[in-house]
Amino acid sequence: MPDTMNDDSFRQALQQQEFIFYYQPKVSMISGKITGAEALIRWQRSDGSIVTPDHFIPYVEQRGLIKQITRIAIDNAVDHLQKIKRLGLALQVAVNITYQDLEDDGLIKHLRSLIQSGDLDATLLQLEITERTVIRSPEEVQNRLAQLAETGMTIAIDDFGIGYTSLEVLSNLPFSTIKLDRSLIRDVATNKKKARIVSSSVRMARLLNMSTVAEGIEDKACYEKLMRLGCTYGQGYWLSRPASFEQFFELSQTRQWKGNPCGQLHLMQLDHMEWRKDILEEVSYLVSLSKSEKRKIDIETVARGHSDYRSCNLGKWYYGVGREFRQYQIYNQMEATHTALHQTGAKLIRMAAKQGRFERLQEEMNTLNELSGQIIMFLEKLETQVQYDTLKFNQVFTEQDFLQSGDMVWNRAMEKRVGYHNRGTIISRNITRFPAG
Ligand code: C2E
Ligand code: MG
Ligand code: MG
Repeated sequence: MPDTMNDDSFRQALQQQEFIFYYQPKVSMISGKITGAEALIRWQRSDGSIVTPDHFIPYVEQRGLIKQITRIAIDNAVDHLQKIKRLGLALQVAVNITYQDLEDDGLIKHLRSLIQSGDLDATLLQLEITERTVIRSPEEVQNRLAQLAETGMTIAIDDFGIGYTSLEVLSNLPFSTIKLDRSLIRDVATNKKKARIVSSSVRMARLLNMSTVAEGIEDKACYEKLMRLGCTYGQGYWLSRPASFEQFFELSQTRQWKGNPCGQLHLMQLDHMEWRKDILEEVSYLVSLSKSEKRKIDIETVARGHSDYRSCNLGKWYYGVGREFRQYQIYNQMEATHTALHQTGAKLIRMAAKQGRFERLQEEMNTLNELSGQIIMFLEKLETQVQYDTLKFNQVFTEQDFLQSGDMVWNRAMEKRVGYHNRGTIISRNITRFPAG
């Protein structure tokens, strides 16, 4: 309520350092581990009462004072990131910024100087900005967003799905993450239409090379549904309420939730099919061109682009988070096929650009199809294997196992029941179930 804040109380709150930050964990739905947190402001009044942002941020924004809040939020986050770094760990912290922060160069200059002085590792700071901020924003505001992204910081579009975003905003601005609003997430486990909307948003984000964070996860059913839909990260009361930095940090080192990469593995199959379709379309386009039209195209660059097996979505996954699966034989078998697939793709492009025999082209297309089929088979097998291991893991562990903490209890239980102690990161570590809410 604005009546809880006026210019005097704002000034006083600043002087008395009454603005503090709670940190709400973000959990990877692939590994079940905490990977970072969102910093959320609170006004801690002199009588000890806590005022949540909805009661004062609108006022602060309306009075044009938000930049002072953002400055404190960033400096607080940078301070904590340094503490984390000193411990040899890496967690990402996200800070909320607003339109007013982008109206001039103040924020960019401040962040750049933190990066240049070595006080901030840009990749560990994320900026969250709401949809309504960026829609219809002038060019210079959008340019500043681009400049922020160029420093290496990631930018998330907050509260996605409440009706403001145009596809143009998504395609033109440098977002790396979509935060699905909790109004979409709330009944995703029971409402089929909502589940489809979330599923297609996750898919769209992937195609645009973005990750997804689901906000407002309030129960287990919701968490598990989102995990199956391939959402990348989760945030919500069921995982943890916003807490002091110390509590958040302690949690990040001691708690792990269920992780299941099957949603991601399924999306990977779709990504691969998309890649195959794109390359075959390109081949038929090239074949349809006249000799003079073909000469205008730098075929070698196009072909080399296709031969790069590390930069397609599958490659990025394989050499990135996919490494979590390296203890699976199928994962390792996939590499040679994937490399051969890209070489064939590049070869096809070169052949299509020449006026060669059509039969040869068709033979090569068949090779591409065979390799592509093998990739799908590998991914399906991996998905089934991981699904099986996850199910087995969940089945054999009783509630009691989760409630008891400590390496000893957990490790003994694992060895006795499944002998999974060498299974690697997907289901390893000292897990204790964090109570809901
Ligand atoms: P937001 O950025 O979308 O942050 C998420 C909000 O959802 C937080 O509310 C968080 O406590 C709440 N939340 C998280 N999980 C759940 C859940 O499972 N159920 C429900 N019902 N709520 C959940 P909070 O902390 O009250 O913040 C509200 C908004 O205030 C934020 O929305 C953000 O827009 C703004 N805000 C917070 N801190 C800052 C800040 O430092 N600067 C600026 N400019 N805005 C801030
Ligand atoms: Mg936010
Ligand atoms: Mg939000």
